[in-house]
Amino acid sequence: MKKGYFGDFGGQFVAELLIPPLRELEHALETIVPSPEFQAEFSALLQDYVGRKSPLTHCPTLSRELGFNLWLKREDLNHTGSHKINNTLGQALLTKYMGKPALLTETGAGMNGVATATAARALDLDCIVFMGATDVARQSHNVRRMQLLGAEIVPVQNGTKTLKDAINEALRFWIAEQRTHHYCFGTAAGPHPFPTLVREFQSVVGREAREQILEKTGELPYAVVACVGGGSNAIGAFHAFVPDASVKLVGVEAAGTGEPGCYNSAPLNLGSRGVLHGQMTMLLQDGDGQIMPSHSVAAGLDYPGVGPEHAHLHDSGRAHYGTVNDAQALKAFMTLTRSEGIMPALESSHAVAWVLENRDRIPKGANVIVNLSGRGDKDMDIIDEHLGAQPVHGRKG
Ligand SMILES: *Cc1c(COP(=O)(O)O)cnc(C)c1O
Repeated sequence: MKKGYFGDFGGQFVAELLIPPLRELEHALETIVPSPEFQAEFSALLQDYVGRKSPLTHCPTLSRELGFNLWLKREDLNHTGSHKINNTLGQALLTKYMGKPALLTETGAGMNGVATATAARALDLDCIVFMGATDVARQSHNVRRMQLLGAEIVPVQNGTKTLKDAINEALRFWIAEQRTHHYCFGTAAGPHPFPTLVREFQSVVGREAREQILEKTGELPYAVVACVGGGSNAIGAFHAFVPDASVKLVGVEAAGTGEPGCYNSAPLNLGSRGVLHGQMTMLLQDGDGQIMPSHSVAAGLDYPGVGPEHAHLHDSGRAHYGTVNDAQALKAFMTLTRSEGIMPALESSHAVAWVLENRDRIPKGANVIVNLSGRGDKDMDIIDEHLGAQPVHGRKG
């Protein structure tokens, strides 16, 4: 396989001036990350700061109803409430080892910004966050959290003033400030080596889950299911299972409202090949190659592209990618909340919903692992907006 490629996908489609920091990062990935010193320090941070390892929780009520065993990998229990901190701490630590004093990143809904600002504080680094002006206005809560954590927020006024514009602006800033700043990329996408680097830091999820399911059931699971935005929680959950040919890997993309022709966030199912943010991948684009707006009720899935390794796993058939719409995700949120007392993030609710919607395809007695990428309290306003009319009494949704 060509270096930096996953089959036909990946690569480094960037301005000449970004090649030096990407080379430097590639070198750090090959030399610093595998070193015993780095690995020991990273493991200690994951244990003592993040709270790993995260539990693998059996869902007794839902499992009885479904006729197979539903297990949740509890990334929602990590410090800051999602899997994102695994990656931001790994990159922040690498930044220290590379001798740089500052992180830069971008954020859409604000979750990557908060996770990066947190890691910056934990390791005493400066932090600057690019954020579309539209997102700054609608995500005031997370903007405030980042400010409290000492990060500098730069509102981006270009394009649709959302995530893809913030990424473009962050890449431009990196060209100018590459000597002092590491770009803490938030998902397993972007130019090589980011998809590999982010996978490296998130793969702890699948390694733990594989050990835990073997310990609890004595066998490999029937399937591992995870939602796909840029693809970091899913690739983290999948990676340890890729060589286990019997284990089905299911990524779940957001279908938006689900109406024909609606805006969605499902480039693997509904997009085509193209280049965005330094990578060849699957994209939502029109006939002229213009990036189309994406939509999902889950802000973290709202991205018009997807990491190149998922494009390859899709292409090769090793993983299957399904879709779930907004209403199905909201319903799954209620079902898990009422059945098990666990409130999933709306992103993670897409993965839960895929299992509920496809229950008839799953054999009785099987073990299915859903990666619960984050917790749902961040989504309270959206939940209220959509489900506000539902009665609040009663045990079941
Ligand atoms: C950001 C986010 C996602 C989507 O990002 P991936 O890189 O695809 O994992 C999913 N779940 C939660 C809770 C998130 O915050």
